[in-house]
Amino acid sequence: MTRLEELLRKVCMRTYKLKSMKIDRFNNKKFELFGTTYVIKVVGILANNDNMYQYGITYNAKKEIHISKKVGDSIQPESEVYLTLVHEIVHCILDAGQYNEESQNEALVEWLSRCIVSLLKQKILVA
Ligand SMILES: [Zn+2]
Repeated sequence: MTRLEELLRKVCMRTYKLKSMKIDRFNNKKFELFGTTYVIKVVGILANNDNMYQYGITYNAKKEIHISKKVGDSIQPESEVYLTLVHEIVHCILDAGQYNEESQNEALVEWLSRCIVSLLKQKILVA
């Protein structure tokens, strides 16, 4: 395989991976928290802010969560994008309850997100 073929193959595989992500099924999904409806938007990439790459962002005024499949030059593994989605939902939960200080505590939000994902994976929360 020539270097050019190798490069083309890598580009094709990356494109395929990006398009085949199951995370897309969350795009435009809505959820409600105590009368407020939020919309999930799965986007290719979020603009970087102050040279910080964005994995996800919650727009409180618009009631939208945007999660990114790509951060910088890297396509994120589906598990990471999913964790980002749960992380942003935890922000919404805290914001909806007026726990604004707690919502700005990224370590707390990340810890709660990882615990929720762990519980979901164990399928013990299925009613
Ligand atoms: Zn956060």
